[in-house]
Amino acid sequence: MSNITARLTRFLAKRNHQHFINGAYQDSYGEKQIAVINPATEVEIGKIPLGNKEDVDAAVRAAKLAFHHNSDWRKMSPDDRGKILYRFSELISDHSESLAQMVTIENGKLIKDALSSDAGGAAKTFRYYAGWTTKIEGETLDISQPQKGGRQNFAFTKREPIGVVAAIVPWNFPISIAAWKIAPALAAGCTVVLKPSEETPLSALLLAEIAMEAGLPPGVLNIVTGDGRTTGACLTAHKDVKKITFTGSTYTGKIIGKTAMENVTGVSLELGGKSPAIVFNDAHDLDFAANGVAAGIFRNQGQVCVAGSRVYIQKKVYDKVLTDISHAAQKMKISHGFDESAQLGPLVSKGHLQKVCNYINSGIEEGAELITGGTENPLDKGYFLKPTIFSALDNEKSIISEEIFGPVLVAVPFDDMEDALRLANDSQFGLAATVWTKDISKAMTMVNRLEAGVVYVNSPVRSDPGLPLGGYKQSGIGRELGKVGIYNYTTLKSVNIVY
Ligand code: NDP
Repeated sequence: MSNITARLTRFLAKRNHQHFINGAYQDSYGEKQIAVINPATEVEIGKIPLGNKEDVDAAVRAAKLAFHHNSDWRKMSPDDRGKILYRFSELISDHSESLAQMVTIENGKLIKDALSSDAGGAAKTFRYYAGWTTKIEGETLDISQPQKGGRQNFAFTKREPIGVVAAIVPWNFPISIAAWKIAPALAAGCTVVLKPSEETPLSALLLAEIAMEAGLPPGVLNIVTGDGRTTGACLTAHKDVKKITFTGSTYTGKIIGKTAMENVTGVSLELGGKSPAIVFNDAHDLDFAANGVAAGIFRNQGQVCVAGSRVYIQKKVYDKVLTDISHAAQKMKISHGFDESAQLGPLVSKGHLQKVCNYINSGIEEGAELITGGTENPLDKGYFLKPTIFSALDNEKSIISEEIFGPVLVAVPFDDMEDALRLANDSQFGLAATVWTKDISKAMTMVNRLEAGVVYVNSPVRSDPGLPLGGYKQSGIGRELGKVGIYNYTTLKSVNIVY
C-alpha cells in the first residue's frame, strides 16, 4: 500500500466517525453504528453512525437556518459565493492524495482512478460551478397584457435558489457524484444535506473538513451518515427539503420518486443503465474499438452507470472483435487498488460480489456461452472477480436485460444498422450508448435514433462537468451537470411591473 498521508492517517485514527452538521462533527442521537469495510482486505476501517430521524432533523434544521438566516449564503454576492467554491476546488486538488486514498480504501477502486475520477472529478466540478454563480439569468419578456391609461408592462423572470437540497449518492464514485450535486446546489445559493452510501461514507466526511477550510459557512453543507432504508428515507420525506437529487438504482429511484410526490418536493433521478456499445464492420480500427469497448465495461470494475455492458458487433467482424475484447480482458492484472500496476480492483462489497456472481450463474443457466471469466475469486481475499464475457444470440437473457453493475459484458452479433438499432433500443434503460464506425452518416443516424441520454462515437463514455448527463426511459428523470445542472437547484419567479 502506498504511504497514507498524514491527514488521512489522522482522520482514520478516529475509528468512530460522526455526522457533519452545522460546520462540526457531531454525535448521533442514536446508538446504532455501521461498520465500513475495506473490500480489498475485508478489514473494518471504522464505524459510522446510523443516522435516525433526530439526526436528519438536526441536519435539515442547520441547512434551513443557513439558507434563511445564519450565513446569508444565498444573499452573499454571486462573486463571493464563487470565490468560496473556487477555493474549495483548489483545496480538493491540494488534498487530492488524501481524498483519493480514502476512496480507494473504502471503495476498492484503483488509486489512479480515484485520483482522476474522484478527487480530480470533484475538483473540476467545483471549479466549473464556481464560474456559474455569476451567470444565473432570467429573461425579459414582451407580454401582451392590456393596461389602462397608457400604462405598460415590464415582465421578467428571475431564478431563485430552491432551498434545502437532499442529496443521496451511491458508492461507485463517492465524492465526484456528491460534487455533481453539491457544487451546482451551492452555486445556486441552496444549502445541502448529503447522505452518502453506507459503503463509502468516509470520503464524504473528509470532504466536509476541506469544505470548512475553504470557508463554507456552517450549515451550508451537512452530512448525515447511515443506510438508505432509515436515514435516506427520513431525509427524502422531510417536509423542509425542497429538492431531492438522487443517483442510484432504478429500484430506489422509484421509491424516492413516490416520496417526493407525496410532499410535492422537486426531484431529479439519475438511475441505472444497460448501455449498448455498437461496433460496425467499418470501425476505424478494430483493435482500437475492441480496447475501447473493454475500457467502457471494465473501468471501475464495471461499477459505472454508463458502462457499456452490452456489445453488439456486426457479423463480419464479430469473431475478431470478440476475441480482441476477450484478450484485453484476460490480460488485465487483478490486484488491490494501491498496486500501481493493477487494472482491476475488488468490487465494493461482499453483498455486491454475490449479486454479480448470481448474474453470472444465471447467464450460464440461461444458455449464454461463457467466453472468459466466471465466479471464481482470482485472489485469496477481497471481493475480486475476473472480467467476464458472454456471447449470446439475442436479447432474451437476464444478463442482457438487467443491470449487473459489475465487470460482465454480453456480446451479440447483428446484421445491419436496423438490426443494431432494434437490439440497442430493446431495453428498459436509456442512459448511454457508444457507436464505433468511421462512416459519419451512419454515426449521425445512430445518434439520432438511439434512445439514450448520452451517445459517444468512437470513444467510451466519459463524464465532464460541462456535458449534461441523464437518461431516457427507466434511467431517470432530469439531467445533471452543464448549464441545465444548475437550474435543477433554482426555481423561476415571474414578475410583471406595470408602470
Ligand atoms: P442504491 O439505489 O442501492 O443506493 C443509492 C443511494 O440511495 C445510497 O446512498 C443508498 O443508501 C440510498 N438509498 C437506498 N434506499 C433508499 C431509500 N429507500 N430512501 C432513500 N435513500 C435510499 O444504488 P447503489 O448505491 O447500489 O448504486 C448503484 C446504482 O447507481 C446503479 O444502478 C447505477 O447505475 C446507479 N448510478 C447511476 C448514475 C447516473 O448518473 N445515472 C451514476 C452512478 C450510479 P445505502 O447504500 O446506504 O443503503
